[in-house]
Amino acid sequence: MPDNSKCVYCGSTNWGTGCAYSATRIHYHPNDPSRCRYCNSPNYGSGCQLNPPTGIHVHGVGGNVCVYCASPNMGSGCHINPMKKMVRSESPQKMPFLRIQIMVKYIS
Ligand SMILES: [Zn+2]
Ligand SMILES: [Zn+2]
Ligand SMILES: [Zn+2]
Repeated sequence: MPDNSKCVYCGSTNWGTGCAYSATRIHYHPNDPSRCRYCNSPNYGSGCQLNPPTGIHVHGVGGNVCVYCASPNMGSGCHINPMKKMVRSESPQKMPFLRIQIMVKYIS
């Protein structure tokens, strides 16, 4: 049984900054659909303090709903995801890459 409460990078049960293995130093918990993978909040939408520069809460995968907006719909039309796509599963490997792309856009 996977332990949803542990950071996938370091195995810690902590949240927030201080992760020794994450590129962003933020613990990452992508396997619990009931809360934000960055900040442990049950909220959706903007307001995430630990997911700069977008500031969007992104829930963990595993539920049959979009990780951004909790909609049961699939395909396009997500009003929270910057890509406008409903996302149910997102491999942890893809996220740093996506983050880098966003950062580059943000800086240039
Ligand atoms: Zn960690
Ligand atoms: Zn959050
Ligand atoms: Zn959505």
